Amino acid sequence: MKRSWRLLGLVLVAVVCLAAVVLLRPTVGHEAEMAGSIDDTQATSTAQETDTGEDGPQILVLNYHKVSDEFLSLAVAPADFDWQMRYLKEHGYHAITPDELYDALEGTGQLPDNPVLITFDDGYQDNYDNAYPILRKYGLKGTVFVVTSFLGTRKGYLTWDECREMEKNGMTVASHTVDHKSMTDLTNDQLRAELVESKKKAEAELGHEVKYMAYPTGAYNLHIAQLVREAGYKAAFTIKYGGVSRKSNIYALERVPIFHTEKTNRDFIERIHYTPQFESFGWTKH
Ligand SMILES: [Zn+2]
Repeated sequence: MKRSWRLLGLVLVAVVCLAAVVLLRPTVGHEAEMAGSIDDTQATSTAQETDTGEDGPQILVLNYHKVSDEFLSLAVAPADFDWQMRYLKEHGYHAITPDELYDALEGTGQLPDNPVLITFDDGYQDNYDNAYPILRKYGLKGTVFVVTSFLGTRKGYLTWDECREMEKNGMTVASHTVDHKSMTDLTNDQLRAELVESKKKAEAELGHEVKYMAYPTGAYNLHIAQLVREAGYKAAFTIKYGGVSRKSNIYALERVPIFHTEKTNRDFIERIHYTPQFESFGWTKH
């Protein structure tokens, strides 16, 4: 009898300890990471925490622009990008393609644990020079939304040859319109041209159907979303801050923008872990 009481006591202590570990985990995990080490083997928080039941898990879609050492908020330094990709790899995230995301949202496909869609807007040359080798180093893949009239014509932007090479190695190239004009300022004819011509051009260059687009500057409305659908796209991405779930509008998918800040990597961790909380309180960031 005495022994079983002692056993019960031990079990209680174990439960309390476990609860303390679970409750304190985000703080402890983040501080360890801020100390410069991301080699912590303890199970820190992952995208699985974002499971919201009926609507399925929230899927993380990251949004980058440039990966370079320029002093711009749109430019994440290659060293920071490397740190972030290593963080994803070491914390069990699996990079997915937009096709995999689409199939999962439609209920026709399965996603790996902790899925993350890594996207880049505009099609900068540094995506090929700096981001792509780092993604390959960690066995990750990304999606580049290109401004089709800039490719091969403007300095600082990708060439179609580079796009084709990246696609051969698991990357996806999709549309960011022809000219990168803010879509809410355009007429219907201009909108259709931006959507249809960029799709056609990218399809001719890449040799396959282009099914996805991202709104330049994130500006969209339901009318524009309808034109995106009519142009033959299957899904479109905004810069509406949040995670994607089955309740998301397939033509207005949420993303989590990653910027160069005074503390880029700390902000990266906070953004990828706290997306669901931001959303549940109705806070959005652009
Ligand atoms: Zn853009």
